[in-house]
Amino acid sequence: MALTGLEIYKQLPKKNCGECGVPTCLAFAMALASGKAALDACPYVTEAAREALDSASAPPIKAIKFGKDSVLGDETVLFRHDKTFYHPTTLLIYVSDTLSDEELSAKLQEIKGLEFERVGLQYTIDGVAIVNDSNDAARFAKVAATVAESTDISLLLLSDNPEAVKAALAPLVARKPLIGSATADNYEAMVNLAKENSVPVIIKADGLDALNDLVEKAVALGYKEFVLDPGSRKTVETLANLTHLRRLAIKKKFRPFGYPVIAFTSNTEPLEEIMEATVYVAKYASAVVLKTSVKAHVLPLMTLRQNIYTDPQKPIQVEPTLHSVGNVNENSPLYITTNFSLTYYSVEGEVETSKIPSYILPIDTDGTSVLTAYAAGKFEPEKIAEAMVACGIADKVKHRNVIIPGYVAVVSGKLAEVSGWKVVVGPRESSGIVSFSKSLS
Ligand code: SF4
Repeated sequence: MALTGLEIYKQLPKKNCGECGVPTCLAFAMALASGKAALDACPYVTEAAREALDSASAPPIKAIKFGKDSVLGDETVLFRHDKTFYHPTTLLIYVSDTLSDEELSAKLQEIKGLEFERVGLQYTIDGVAIVNDSNDAARFAKVAATVAESTDISLLLLSDNPEAVKAALAPLVARKPLIGSATADNYEAMVNLAKENSVPVIIKADGLDALNDLVEKAVALGYKEFVLDPGSRKTVETLANLTHLRRLAIKKKFRPFGYPVIAFTSNTEPLEEIMEATVYVAKYASAVVLKTSVKAHVLPLMTLRQNIYTDPQKPIQVEPTLHSVGNVNENSPLYITTNFSLTYYSVEGEVETSKIPSYILPIDTDGTSVLTAYAAGKFEPEKIAEAMVACGIADKVKHRNVIIPGYVAVVSGKLAEVSGWKVVVGPRESSGIVSFSKSLS
């Protein structure tokens, strides 16, 4: 919870010397509260005040960064509809160091192929979890080095043996991998290894009570870059643990659990495993390690993640400019739609399927769908006509026919009047475009 200006002011030196760039401590406190100043600008803040301000203003779940650009945690609400979620669950593929060199190479090729485009956005898998199943430190280090050489995505080095992690980590420190796991048996060595190399570490214990104890012991070593693993590998127990951890961190501000949480799938049947992973993505894992790397298995998981982590206050939009599908020519039809990306890409997909090269002009409706935009006065005939002029479509086609969505047939008369074009009422749903397009020829 953010502090108010007055709460911050109470912790400041009250010298009113102006060295922070504003004339008074109160003005500085207000600037801090609104995020327009940094505490470091005041040279007189005591250590006690700095600690109080830092911990009180820290997010309920700490942000942990590792690897290429993975950010875990830093979430401020329990439910997405309370505000939004910020950092999509990091997805890592489990790679065992017991794989033969050929199997490893095939697995890495499959992982590299995990690239997707959906509603105009590009996605790739986030990382690889290299797991020391062999209990052989040399093999673990070799597999970690091979994986690191083959891909630049984020790495997790996972072993119960701190010496094995140390050997694998040494040449990869610059990649800032996440390491683990620190347990009751090895936490001092593992946390100190993480601290010395400035990398985050997984704290793992069986159950929340044991996890609480272990986090406190780990914090006492003077380090706080943690990711929590509550130990369970059964779906129902893991879901219960993830939910309790999130509630305690967000609602109760319980600091020992104020870290992101990682979950590991246990199902061996790939589709069951993906269903298990969707549970953890929905509630409330910051990272999930899964075994399958088959593209068709991973795509639905990434789609779910995209839907959950899309800011509900900012719909995904496409550029409201003229788009062409296929090798357009002067006879190509012109479709009008809105710039809400789900609407636009539904239309584009169907136009592509129709195999008739066409123009699509998405109108800027602030990312709302056709009926919502019309109801909000954002899909008016005058606006559509203006967009048609601005995009220069009249110079690109020799016909003067414009196709509008069936749901807004009511604007056809006015649009014909203000644009001078013949308005053709298209299907209500994009799924009707293919059969509709046959009537154009
Ligand atoms: Fe107050 Fe510190 Fe700013 Fe001086 S530098 S006015 S003490 S906040």
